[in-house]
Amino acid sequence: MHAGPGRWDSLRARLLLLVLFAMLPSVALLAYSVAEQHRQAAQRAEHETLMLVQAIAREQALHLATTRLTLRALAKLPALRAPGGACDSLLASLLSAHPYYTNLAAATPEGDVYCSGLPFSSAVNAGDHAFFRRTLETQAFSAGDYQVGRITGLPAVNFGYPILDSDGELAGVAFAALDLEWVKELTLRAQLPRGAVLLMIDPAGGVIARIGHDGRWLTRGDPAAPLRRALATDREGGTVRVMAEDGTTRLHAYAPFYQGASGTSYVSVGVPAVEALAVARGDLLRNLGLLLLVASLAIFAAWFGSEVFLLRRVRALGEASRRLAQGDLKARSGLQRGGDELGCLAAAFDDMAGSLQRVNRALRTLSAGNRALVRATDEHELLQDICRIVVEVGGYRCAWVCHARHTEADKVAVEVWAAAGPAATTAPPIDAQTLAGLDAGAPLVVKRCGQGHTEVPDGCRALAVLPLRADGESLGALVICAASPDCFDAEALELLEETAGDLAYGIGNLRARSERRQAQDLIERMAYHDTLTGLPNQAAMEQHLRTSLGREGGAARGAMLMVDLERFREINEALGFHQGDQLLKAAAQRLSEAVPGGAMVARLRGDEFAVLLSPADADTASSVAQGIREALDRPFPLGGLSLRINAVIGIALAPEHGDEPARLGRHADVAVRQAKRSRRPFAVYDPSADEDGPQRLALASDLRHAIDAGALDLYYQPKIDLRQNALCGVEALVRWRHPVRGMVSPDEFVSLAEHTGLIKPLTLWVLEQALGQAAAWRSAGVSIPIAVNLSAWNLRDRNLLPKIEELFARWGAGPGWLDLEITESAMMEDPEGAVGTLRALSALGIGLFIDDFGTGYSSLSYLTKLPVNAVKIDKSFVMDMLSNPQSAAVVHSTIGLAHDLQIAVVAEGVEDAIVSERLANWGCDVGQGYFYGRPAPAEELVVAKGRITRCQ
Ligand code: C2E
Ligand code: CA
Ligand code: CA
Repeated sequence: MHAGPGRWDSLRARLLLLVLFAMLPSVALLAYSVAEQHRQAAQRAEHETLMLVQAIAREQALHLATTRLTLRALAKLPALRAPGGACDSLLASLLSAHPYYTNLAAATPEGDVYCSGLPFSSAVNAGDHAFFRRTLETQAFSAGDYQVGRITGLPAVNFGYPILDSDGELAGVAFAALDLEWVKELTLRAQLPRGAVLLMIDPAGGVIARIGHDGRWLTRGDPAAPLRRALATDREGGTVRVMAEDGTTRLHAYAPFYQGASGTSYVSVGVPAVEALAVARGDLLRNLGLLLLVASLAIFAAWFGSEVFLLRRVRALGEASRRLAQGDLKARSGLQRGGDELGCLAAAFDDMAGSLQRVNRALRTLSAGNRALVRATDEHELLQDICRIVVEVGGYRCAWVCHARHTEADKVAVEVWAAAGPAATTAPPIDAQTLAGLDAGAPLVVKRCGQGHTEVPDGCRALAVLPLRADGESLGALVICAASPDCFDAEALELLEETAGDLAYGIGNLRARSERRQAQDLIERMAYHDTLTGLPNQAAMEQHLRTSLGREGGAARGAMLMVDLERFREINEALGFHQGDQLLKAAAQRLSEAVPGGAMVARLRGDEFAVLLSPADADTASSVAQGIREALDRPFPLGGLSLRINAVIGIALAPEHGDEPARLGRHADVAVRQAKRSRRPFAVYDPSADEDGPQRLALASDLRHAIDAGALDLYYQPKIDLRQNALCGVEALVRWRHPVRGMVSPDEFVSLAEHTGLIKPLTLWVLEQALGQAAAWRSAGVSIPIAVNLSAWNLRDRNLLPKIEELFARWGAGPGWLDLEITESAMMEDPEGAVGTLRALSALGIGLFIDDFGTGYSSLSYLTKLPVNAVKIDKSFVMDMLSNPQSAAVVHSTIGLAHDLQIAVVAEGVEDAIVSERLANWGCDVGQGYFYGRPAPAEELVVAKGRITRCQ
C-alpha cells in the first residue's frame, strides 16, 4: 500500500475509472436518447407551426373560394351590368352581410367604377390596379395586391371577376376588396408565441401582410432570402429557419392558400427558434441534469462503496503485511474471516502469520536448545536450560521434563526433573499411564485445553507432550504448555519434536559420557591399582617414576625402596590364601603409614612392595627404610594368632643407579639380595657387588666376536607401495643368535653396541651385507633399495661417509641402491653437524628416512632444513590406530603435514588389512609390517620376485 489516497494509480482511482467505464454505454445511450428526444421535440415544434400555418392557409383559401363564388354570382346578375342605384344598393346590402369585405364594386373594361357597395363621390378608375389588369388578361378570377382601397381608405386585397355580356364579350369587372382584419383575428386565435410573425406572400414573393403575435400590423418588408428560396423550391409548403433583420432566428412554416393565374400565394408563420424549441430545450436541460445527477450518484456510490467494502480492508491487510515484513510476527489483519475473496485472503494471511509465529517460536527454541546441548556438561542443568529456553526464548507459557519412576512393586509415579515458567511448581499435567503410552514415540497434543481429560495448569490453552527417547529407551517426556490455543500445528510440532529428539540425544550422550568416564576410571584403577590392597601397582609405579625422574635422562634425584616380605610365602602356605591376603592388606596399611607424605607406596607382585621417594638421597632413604622396618616388625594379629614377618629393603638411588624404571627396579632388587646376603635389614645398591655388570661386559665381548666373525644374520622386511600394492623396498634388520643365550633381541644388543662403541663395526657389517645383497638382487633383475638403520653414534662418525663411498665404489652402487633410516632423536643430537653428512649422503642418491617418527620431537618443520625423503610413522601409533583415536589422529595428520612438505610417508607396524586399507585411503605412500611380511632371510624374500617394482 504505497500509493497515497490521491494518486491516480491508487486502487480507488482505478475503481472509479472502472465505474466510469462501466457507466459509459448507459450514459451514451441516455445522451443519445436525450438528443433524440430533443430532435423529436424540435420536429414537433416545426410540425405544430406547419399545422398552424396550414390551418391559416386553409381558412384563407376558404375565404378566396367564397370570394370567387360571390364575384361569379354577382357577375352573372343583370343588375350589375347596368349602372345605377339598384346596383349600388345590391352591393351595399351584400357588403353589410359580409363583414370581411371592405367593398364590393363593378367597373367598366376601361376601369371606370360604375357601381359600388360603398358610396363614392368622384370618379374612380381601377384600371391601373394589378387585379384589374390580371382579370382583363386572364378573363378569370384574379387577385391583386395588398393596398389601401381608394374608396374605403382601408388596407385590403382586391379580387376581380370578368362580367360577360350575352355574347360572351367582356362587359366589365366585378371586384371585391377583402379586408385582412380576419387574418389578424386568425393570428390572435392561433395564440402565437411572443415574437412570432404571420406573413401573407403573393405569387411574386412580395409580402402582402405582416402581423405580429399580438395582432398588430407590422411594416411591410420582403421575406428573407431563405424563405423565398424555400417557396421557390417547395411549393407545397414546409419549414425553414430564417435569420431576420432584427437578428432573431425564426422557424418559418409556410403553406399555399391561393393558386391563381399569376401563381401561388403563401401564408407563413415565423416563430422565434428560441420559443419554438423552448420545450425541447427544457426537456434537454432536464434530461442532461438528470444524467449528471445519475453519474454523480454513481461516482459518489463508487467512492464510498469502495471505501466501505474494499479499501478499508485492503489497507488493513497491507498494513498487517508491512508489519509482518518488518519482523512483527504478531501482526494480524484484524478483518473478519471468510466470506468474500478479501475475507478469505485475510483469513489466509492471518493463518500464515500465525503459523509463521508458531514455527518461529519452535525454531528459536530448537536453535537455542541446540546451543544449550553443545555446552551441556550436566544432565540436570541441561534439562533446566531447555525448560528455561522453551519459556524464555520460545515464548511458551511453561515447560516440564518428567519421567516415570517405579515407587513400589507395581506403582509408577511421574516426577518432575526440571521445570520453567509460571505455575511450573504444580504437579505435571500428565499421569503415569499417559507417560507410559508415549513409549511408542509419537507426541501427544491437546490443541485446545479444556477439551481433553488432562488437568492443565492455569493459563494453559494448548499442550504438547513430547516423548524423550534415546537408543530405543524411554527417558520421559518434555511437556510444553502454550498460552494460546492451536499453537502446536504440524510444522511447529515437527520442530519441537526435533528439539525433544535433540534433548533426548543430549541426555543419552551425557549419560554415555559419564558411563565412559566411570569405565575409564575403573580401567585406570584396574590397570594402575592392586585390587587387593588398593595400592598403585607396578605399572603405576613405573609411570610415576618416569614422570618424577624426568623422561629424558633422570635429572631429578630420588630413591626406590624395594620391600620384600621374607616369611610371607610360609604364612600363605600355612594359613591359606585368605589369611595371606589379610596379612598383605595389613602390611600395606602399615607401610603406607610409615612413609612420609608425598612418597608413593606400590605393590609390585606377591610379597613385593616398593616405595618411591622424591627427592631423596641415601640418608633419607635409609631412615625411611628404618621406619618401615620398625612398622612391619610389630606382630600382626591374624586369625587369633600373632604373626611376625621379616621385611628386607633394597634401596636404589636415581640417577646414580638408574635413570629409567627398569634399571632402577633391577638395581633395587639387587640391593635386596645384597641386604639378604649381608643379613642386614636394608641395603643401598652397591654396583661393585652387582653380579649383572660383568655379565653385560661378557655379552659385549661375545658381540664383538660375532661381528668380527660375521656370525650375525641380516633379515629383510618388505616395504609395500600402497598405491600400486607392490614391493618397493626392504629394511635390513640385524639378528644375533648367541651360542648360549639363543636369539638376543636387537633392542638389547644394539643398545649394548651403542654403549660399547661396537655400533660402528656393527653398522659397517650391515652396510656391507646390504650392498652385497643389493648387488646380488640387481644381477637377478630385482632393483629395490635396501634400508639400513643408523644410530646417533654413526652420524657422529667422520669415517661413515668415506666408508659408504668406498662400499659404493666396490659394489658399483648408485642412486636407488641404499636408504638410511635415522631416528629423530639421533638427528637432533647434533643437527648442525648432522646436516653436512646427510647432504653428502643424499648427494650419493641415498634415500634418507626419519625413523620412529612421533616418539621424539615430532616437529616436521625442522625436516624442511634437512634433505629428508620420507618419514616412518612409529609402529606404536600405527598398531593401535584402530582402537585409539589419538593415535589415528597422529597418523592421519602426519600424512597430511608430510605431504604438504613434499615428504613421503612410510607406516611401520601394519599388522592387518583394515589398517593397510585405511592408510592407503589416507594417502600413505608405503606400508611395512607383519601384514605384508615379517623380517626374513634374503632367500625367503626373493620368492616374491615376479611382483617386485621400484620404490618411488
Ligand atoms: P626399527 O628400526 O623401528 O625396526 C622395526 C622393528 O619393528 C623391527 O623389530 C621389526 O621386526 C618390527 N616390526 C616390523 N613390522 C612389525 C609389525 O607389524 N609389528 C610389530 N610388532 N613389529 C614389527 P626388530 O627387528 O626387533 O628391531 C628393533 C629395533 O632394533 C629396530 O627398530 C632398530 O631400531 C634396531 N635395529 C635393528 N637392526 C638394526 C641395525 O642393523 N642397525 C641399527 N642401528 N639398529 C637396528
Ligand atoms: Ca628402522
Ligand atoms: Ca621404527
